[in-house]
Amino acid sequence: MATACLFDPLHILIVGAGTGGLACALACRQAKPPIRVTLLERASELLPIGAGIQIPPNAARIMDSFGLSEKLVQAGGIIMDAHVLRRYANGSVLVDKSWVPQMRDQYGADWLAEYQLMLVDEVKRAGVDMRMGAEVIKVNIDSNEPSVVLKDGSILFADVVVGADGLWSTTRNYVLELPVTPRETGDLAYRGTFSAQQLASLKDERISELLSSSSVQVWMGPQKHVVFYPVRSHTEFNLVLLCPDTVPKGKRTAEGNLKEMEELFEGWDPILRKLISGLKTALKWKLHHVPRQETWTKGASVLIGDASHPTLPYQAQGAAMAIEDGAVLGLLLSHLDAHRQANRGDKHAQVASILRLFERLRKQRTEINVAGAVEKQDFYHLPDGDLQVERDQVLSDIAQTDFKAQCKWSWGDKSYNDELLGFDVLHDAEEGFKAWIEHECPMA
Ligand SMILES: Cc1cc2nc3c(=O)[nH]c(=O)nc-3n(C[C@H](O)[C@H](O)[C@H](O)COP(=O)(O)OP(=O)(O)OC[C@H]3O[C@@H](n4cnc5c(N)ncnc54)[C@H](O)[C@@H]3O)c2cc1C
Repeated sequence: MATACLFDPLHILIVGAGTGGLACALACRQAKPPIRVTLLERASELLPIGAGIQIPPNAARIMDSFGLSEKLVQAGGIIMDAHVLRRYANGSVLVDKSWVPQMRDQYGADWLAEYQLMLVDEVKRAGVDMRMGAEVIKVNIDSNEPSVVLKDGSILFADVVVGADGLWSTTRNYVLELPVTPRETGDLAYRGTFSAQQLASLKDERISELLSSSSVQVWMGPQKHVVFYPVRSHTEFNLVLLCPDTVPKGKRTAEGNLKEMEELFEGWDPILRKLISGLKTALKWKLHHVPRQETWTKGASVLIGDASHPTLPYQAQGAAMAIEDGAVLGLLLSHLDAHRQANRGDKHAQVASILRLFERLRKQRTEINVAGAVEKQDFYHLPDGDLQVERDQVLSDIAQTDFKAQCKWSWGDKSYNDELLGFDVLHDAEEGFKAWIEHECPMA
């Protein structure tokens, strides 16, 4: 069979260069042979959110599959060694979940903290046609010839359009064929960063201890919690304050007022007020969600990451799920592309079908994550009282089992965490693709 003249390679158009879009682009380019990818990003320059984010082991394994884990650590990524939950009022430790070496043994990767800009460098190196300042204003979801319209009026065609354009996705409105506006969750996040020098200048013994520790520290209290962790080889530190939303309706972000922040944490561990006083600025982010959708795909278009399943950032899994989505989608598309080199078939029908497979593989897992983050909102924010006393007791009991038991809160539940952090999404996608070829792949 003269396969060469039959082969019509795929061209993937990705809208948005966040973690999801970058992971999808990289997975497509690392395939053998690489797939043609055009990546459109509205911003003229990509800036990290705060100094960095946490990369849980499920996402770290994907970075590993890209050959980037070591580079992450060399670039200053920190291997986190514990998750410490503290009582809000005095900072006393409620539970200290040590991760090293269990994390790597159990889940095949560490829990890291670092910024995502490394993916951008890799994507460029891998030969993605990456266009900055390219804002998509319209998507034509036609299955046979999908296209996007840019703000400058130009139109780009491809075989697949991937909407990786985040919470405020434009692509989503076209894929779902109705405008979907994110809803307020009632919470907001203040994000601030410190340099190591700034923290050292606060001259506080407990803050000095935090300077050298590689752990995620969480203070839990009524309606609020605080997260603190180091990034970039302990030269920078992230402070995130989660509390009830006071940003005016309709606004997405606002400048944080340090005095207001100090007042909000009146009566909390004094170290927090000291930390806040050491900040130069902080930005307030209103936290939104999007109601669950029946489907994320239409014809040759598909949504990934926050465009499809945004979540409260309460289990540090938003970017992680976006990376998983991107890697799984890239794997499926590259297997389809390779399959098409030797096999005849209706490209449009195959693309639509493989996108439905993607959705099947990803939907339940990401929905469990969204629900888990909502449950953690209650878990972290319990008011003082019977339930809070019970929670603190359960945490102490679970620590005695070395976190190997069931727990009524997902934070401490072994099977929940095994599934979230240990499930091998790439293997799952490989198996899914094999079954798809056998039973579902549309032929000519
Ligand atoms: C306070 C806070 C803390 C968090 N901490 C963590 C954490 O520790 N770990 C974690 O895993 N997650 C965390 N997250 C969540 C994480 O930031 C998001 O889930 C993740 O960034 C989603 O990735 P994405 O690629 O889907 O979308 P985004 O990162 O939002 O990327 C979308 C991209 O699309 C571009 N874009 C948008 N519209 C268009 C358009 N029309 N045309 C072209 N380009 C467009 C945008 O400019 C952007 O670059 C946190 C979130 C918040 C708010």
